[in-house]
Amino acid sequence: MTYPKRSLAVLGSTGSIGTQALDVAARHADRFTVVALTAHSNRETLFAQVRAFRPLLAGLTDARLTLADVPDDLRFCRWVFGPQALTEAAALAQAQDVLVSVVGMLGLPSVLTALEHRKRVLLANKEALVAGGALVMRAAQAAGENMLLPVDSEHSAIFQCLQGAGGNPIRRILLTCSGGPFRTWAKADLDAATRAQALRHPTWAMGAKITTDSATLFNKALEIIEAKHLFHVEPQQIQVLIHPQSVVHSAVEFQDGAVVAQLGTPDMRLPILYAMAYPERLPTGGAPLDLFAMRELTFEAPDPVRFPSLRMAEESLLAGGAACCVLNAANEVAVNRFLGLDGGMAIPVGKIYAVVAETLQRVGHLPADDLPAVLEADRRAREVAASLLP
Ligand code: NDP
Ligand code: MG
Repeated sequence: MTYPKRSLAVLGSTGSIGTQALDVAARHADRFTVVALTAHSNRETLFAQVRAFRPLLAGLTDARLTLADVPDDLRFCRWVFGPQALTEAAALAQAQDVLVSVVGMLGLPSVLTALEHRKRVLLANKEALVAGGALVMRAAQAAGENMLLPVDSEHSAIFQCLQGAGGNPIRRILLTCSGGPFRTWAKADLDAATRAQALRHPTWAMGAKITTDSATLFNKALEIIEAKHLFHVEPQQIQVLIHPQSVVHSAVEFQDGAVVAQLGTPDMRLPILYAMAYPERLPTGGAPLDLFAMRELTFEAPDPVRFPSLRMAEESLLAGGAACCVLNAANEVAVNRFLGLDGGMAIPVGKIYAVVAETLQRVGHLPADDLPAVLEADRRAREVAASLLP
């Protein structure tokens, strides 16, 4: 079977996911045309990408930048500046697929815009789904079957396990988790851990925000919420397994007890390219998995005391309304501070847990029925979370 060439917009093209997507797009130039690229402020990388891929639209979301910052030879495409670059790229008529790989829930409007324009969304930006789960799933359903494809490795694994399942219901999702750099740390040491310690991820090389989330297990907390929406399961059907080797990317258990898993090396190019080429499978350029080289594959239960993030996700799902949006916003604010991005006083890991828990409690129940309600809950949670920082 031959598949037609697809046109792709990449939102957040200069990031860890964005650059890997362009790597596989270049490897398969006969299959993908890149029609839009956006970055925030990393101009030099974006300029090099625009030179290489010659898109129709390029955007810099940092509102301080203008066309005067763009070299003359790169003005052949349409340039958009400020946050609207994301929604304009998401709505571009010539784009069939939109890879949303910006970091943070600020990607939500572009996810909704792309789906409203009947574009296939390749979703790396899990924060958008966590904050606006019901809205995104409603828009995805209206857009048609398989119009929202997961890029997150665990959710891609689950999606792959469901291919050929013939609509059989899921009994459980086994969501694997590397455990991060603090997997074996005592609670007191973990709570006192710093930015440099959190940024040493044992198996995956990723952007700073998700690397921090992987250390606190807020990444897995967000992924529980993500899985609940994508695969229409109840929170109690999702079991998190600490699997430090990051080889089993997740699994699905069916009613007869059969467990179907997807295995591979920890290389994001596989789930990225699987979403880009779906349903075709193309070579990623990565080394094949060598099971003989694996001394062992281990699985253990997460420790809810040292890592309270998982429980916060389960409670937020049960609370409903905008609770998951509030959890995500508080985490974004705390992680920004933890990473030293807001210029404030440094905080340790323990403070991230404290800020999220306290914000959830103080904000209480808010609705999440439409985009304005979600944006308002996000704004309110950010205000409360910021007030809790030193
Ligand atoms: P990075 O930090 O590496 O990249 C983020 C991208 O978003 C960059 O292109 C950046 O532009 C852009 N960006 C930053 N701030 C803004 C803003 N305010 N407005 C618009 N664009 C902005 O992140 P990752 O690639 O690691 O992660 C992207 C998303 O994918 C996240 O939601 C993450 O959770 C998810 N994900 C990532 C995985 C990974 O392996 N990295 C795995 C699974 C999911 P600039 O370079 O100019 O700052
Ligand atoms: Mg993941």
